[in-house]
Amino acid sequence: MVSKSSLEAEVAIRNMHNPPVLRSLHIDRFHAEPAIFRAPGRVNLIGEHTDYAEGFVMPAAINFATLAGISPRTDGKIVIYSENFGEEMVFDAAALPRIRTRHWSDYPMGVVHVLAGEGHAIPGFSLSLWGDVPLGSGLSSSASVEVATALAVESLIGANDPGPVLARLCQRAENEFVGASCGIMDQFISVNGKEDHALLLDCRDLSFRLAPIPDHVALVIANTMVKHSVAGGDYTTRRAEVEDATRVLARHRPEIRFLRDATLADLDQWGHEMAPKSRMRARHIISENLRTVAAADALMRGDMAELGRLMAEAHRSYSQDFEASCVEADTMVDLAQDLPGLIGARLTGGGFGGCTINLVEQKDADAFAAALGGRYAAQIGIVPEIYVCHAAGGAGRLDQA
Ligand code: ADP
Ligand code: MG
Repeated sequence: MVSKSSLEAEVAIRNMHNPPVLRSLHIDRFHAEPAIFRAPGRVNLIGEHTDYAEGFVMPAAINFATLAGISPRTDGKIVIYSENFGEEMVFDAAALPRIRTRHWSDYPMGVVHVLAGEGHAIPGFSLSLWGDVPLGSGLSSSASVEVATALAVESLIGANDPGPVLARLCQRAENEFVGASCGIMDQFISVNGKEDHALLLDCRDLSFRLAPIPDHVALVIANTMVKHSVAGGDYTTRRAEVEDATRVLARHRPEIRFLRDATLADLDQWGHEMAPKSRMRARHIISENLRTVAAADALMRGDMAELGRLMAEAHRSYSQDFEASCVEADTMVDLAQDLPGLIGARLTGGGFGGCTINLVEQKDADAFAAALGGRYAAQIGIVPEIYVCHAAGGAGRLDQA
């Protein structure tokens, strides 16, 4: 049995980047000066599993990112090195892979595949990747790799797609090549995030509103360090249940193409025709859309108490109706409740583990992180990582100096 105080001392609190070493790493390996691009990960403040229902989400880009360095080659090869994996992969630009290999290189090669499909001639290049977005923790390292790669390759081939097009292209890389059925949120916020702002995105037409996050508020992200794959309970199953509920409602109101078009009154009227689980999933999504728009309004007028209340309600709905939480995430949210400085806490991302997002008064953020980490370690027996973040700007080119 590990004592509480020794666990507390071990809790990893990260609030600083390692300085980017990508340029020297690229030069040492490839003997060429790279152009360097940065694409951030993200945290979703509210709006979970609403993106593929053409609803609303409100993420912020965070100050953890993937960097991609690129330089041309003359041998017709595409050589991709990931510093995170310490591994180099070699492809032939004239004979691009058509299918995934379930390897990390699927993410950058998915982007190349989509660009080639758009009619771009793809030359040989060297690409180096390094990121400090925790991998597989729900902070979207995958979108950050895709977006950084897309910017890098587009610069090489002289393409310059506008932000929303770039985001769609990266989403397609993940849907069509990697084989993950994600919505548009992750790629969109990585491209279009704005420093110190959250972004309310309408996933129907990709229109958005920026809502300033006040200076006195920190984004404290708590990684449960678990990722469950629940039998019959994963992301894909949830999507199928949601589509099921949508079909039932559309029988009565054909204009309902997605749950975005449905109301809680529709659900009251016709919910009994659905499987009970589908009805619960639909209740989460329909109410989550309302909460997400209300949360953006609250943030716009600086009403942090209302934002916190909506986050708490969103967590309950995600946990009870969508059943996408787990003991560890529920515990992380519960343990935050009486800590000084908390504004609101909820599980963020696709579910079944990953991270919670805590909006916390900046002055209390470090103490909050230490206390939450200690409590979680003592109760669950796993030392969490806690990241004290702020909302960062979207993807772009870095100075080469
Ligand atoms: P999340 O997006 O929440 O971090 P995913 O499972 O969607 O989790 O994506 C994680 C995967 O993305 C990794 O397992 C790896 O294949 C790829 N990836 C992320 N960052 C990098 C990186 N720096 N280098 C290479 N591959 C990466
Ligand atoms: Mg991902």
